[in-house]
Amino acid sequence: MEPIDLVLAVDIGGTTTSLGLLDRAGADLGQATLATEGHRPAADLVARIAARADVLRDRLDQPHRLRGVGVGAPNANGRRGTVDNPVNLDWGPRTDLAGLLQDALDLPTAVTNDANAAAMGEWLFGGARGLRDFITITLGTGLGSGIVAEGRLVEGADGLAGELGHTVLEVDGRLCGCGNRGCLEAYVSAPGLCRTVLALLAERGATGPLAAVPPRELTARRVFQAAMEGDPVALAAFDATARWLGRKLAEAVAHTRPEAIFLCGGLAAAGELLRAPAQDWLDRFLFPAYRGRVALRRSELPEAGSALLGAGALIWSRLEGQGGPA
Ligand SMILES: [Zn+2]
Repeated sequence: MEPIDLVLAVDIGGTTTSLGLLDRAGADLGQATLATEGHRPAADLVARIAARADVLRDRLDQPHRLRGVGVGAPNANGRRGTVDNPVNLDWGPRTDLAGLLQDALDLPTAVTNDANAAAMGEWLFGGARGLRDFITITLGTGLGSGIVAEGRLVEGADGLAGELGHTVLEVDGRLCGCGNRGCLEAYVSAPGLCRTVLALLAERGATGPLAAVPPRELTARRVFQAAMEGDPVALAAFDATARWLGRKLAEAVAHTRPEAIFLCGGLAAAGELLRAPAQDWLDRFLFPAYRGRVALRRSELPEAGSALLGAGALIWSRLEGQGGPA
């Protein structure tokens, strides 16, 4: 029996780290999760990842070759393979995560941030297959973006290109987690949607089902449910979110002229409630030469497995000697 080629995909989160053995088609041949234990040094997590990878490989009853390791991690720099000042991990200013994993597993290793991993996953295994110009927008607790232009993932001068979430939507607007004011992420994200609802309730007088929810308990999911039940405040919040998103995406289109923009992440699960009006607003704001030619689409990756698929896609592309799939 010919050995099959596999990669180890790793998704490092603030509390949980997931591992998966993926083949070139993205099929999952074994998965495990670990507690990240971000208060301990990175080397400790790396040692546990290596040990668990051995367990997964032992369980496989077919001959295989492990070709490399792909990692998605918060605050990762794809150019350097480092993780810099991660918010939820006590790792200090800079950790050479690619170097540590390479030493532990003796395999080629590629590291990137979650937003770029999402773009790579969409490219190899999702709706962006065959495209040379597209953008992925990850909507969850923040707004991440990965930009592929002319067949390459755009990394820029220092590996940090493409932070659309921290471009200014509103001068002197809402305070953002990054310290600036008015960032897109402070409006278009799960917490941003909740802030919009609270602002609308304050403005219109607190009526409807969301007025009964204590502000701290308000979640994007509750807003979504209220919108599905026809609550005008929730519907207005989604429309405002779609308008802001459409406006900023229209600007992004001017930079790289993508064929499609993919929405992924938890808030994208609101589906047509967000996508359809955002497509309308996008077209309205677009330079007429682009109008009707940029499709806003939902990710074709399963939400639950998308982070591992992205990490796997990253290393497969790297092994194949390019910034991305041909
Ligand atoms: Zn910001």
